[in-house]
Amino acid sequence: MRKKIVAGNWKMNNNLNQTKELIEVLKAEINEVKLNNTRVIVAPSFVNLQEAIEGTKNTSIEIAAQNLHQAKNGAYTGEVSSEMLASIGVDIVILGHSERRTYFNETDEALSEKVATAIENGFDVIFCFGEQLEDREANNHFKVVESQLKNALFNLPSEAYSKIILAYEPVWAIGTGKTASADQAQEMHKFIRGLFVDAYGNDLANELSILYGGSVKPSNANEIFSKPDVDGGLIGGASLNAKDFSEIVKAI
Ligand code: PEP
Repeated sequence: MRKKIVAGNWKMNNNLNQTKELIEVLKAEINEVKLNNTRVIVAPSFVNLQEAIEGTKNTSIEIAAQNLHQAKNGAYTGEVSSEMLASIGVDIVILGHSERRTYFNETDEALSEKVATAIENGFDVIFCFGEQLEDREANNHFKVVESQLKNALFNLPSEAYSKIILAYEPVWAIGTGKTASADQAQEMHKFIRGLFVDAYGNDLANELSILYGGSVKPSNANEIFSKPDVDGGLIGGASLNAKDFSEIVKAI
């Protein structure tokens, strides 16, 4: 059965103490929620991952990294490998976030390698993709999304997809307060599922969780999550507030 997922991307926010505090409040809030077939994931910065893993032991909150390097190890100053993450108990990673693509020049080719490394090392991958505003205005959004997915994911064997979570994040809606309407999200998610039906067949496509990301808040989560092809959300800003984040989890 297709999983519902709410994931919080904390980006470059929260020092060690703030991470501990947020996790404590989150644990109390999430405890109250009945998590039916729903995964709750948060992604602190690299330096706070170990603390987060410790702090969420024996809870239903899972911890993800925000990136990893595709190489096993080596002379890549400032980078973090899958093996390092695995050694502290991290087994989920966000890849392809638009901020990584835009500010750190991550290409579809590099992302394809990162996804392969992550899968080889047993990680679940939250794979982000989505069009820029000018793509949507030029009515190119379906084409852009199709090529991002084909370039980075379509070389994977079917078995890999039990580890893949898709996150459609229109770039114009990230951190802008501008959300795609629930109908726009559904239209794109249905299109995405259709691409996987064509490439891998119905059964695989129906099992894929497709999250929506882009200014999801407690006030709009219900409507977005009510759509049949929206299986949850990737939440940025609102995930930094435990109450807002758990309200969003309750909306699923
Ligand atoms: C994100 O960065 O993945 C995101 C969805 O951010 P926000 O919720 O702040 O738009």
